[in-house]
Amino acid sequence: MRFTSRWLTWICLSLMLWAAVAESTHSHPNKTESATCSICVVAHGTTPTASSNHARPVFAAVGVLQEEEVIAKARLGVFELGIRGPPAV
Ligand SMILES: [Zn+2]
Repeated sequence: MRFTSRWLTWICLSLMLWAAVAESTHSHPNKTESATCSICVVAHGTTPTASSNHARPVFAAVGVLQEEEVIAKARLGVFELGIRGPPAV
C-alpha cells in the first residue's frame, strides 16, 4: 500500500512537471496554429482585469439580548444538617 502510493505520487509529480515543460516550450510553425492554440491564446492574450462582486456588508440588529436573573435555589435537607467534618487534631 505504501509502496504503491509512493509510486503514484512520483508518477503524478512527473506528469505535472512534464506538462509544465511541454506547455512552456511548445512552438508552432505558423501564426494560424498559434491563434487556435488554447495555451498560446491564454499566454499572449490581454491581461485579465480583476473583478469583484463583493457585496457591501449590511449591519442590522437581529435581536436584543434579554437578561434574565437566575437564582439558584438551595435547599438543605435534614440529612445534610447532620453531617459534620472530621475532628480537628
Ligand atoms: Zn500554442
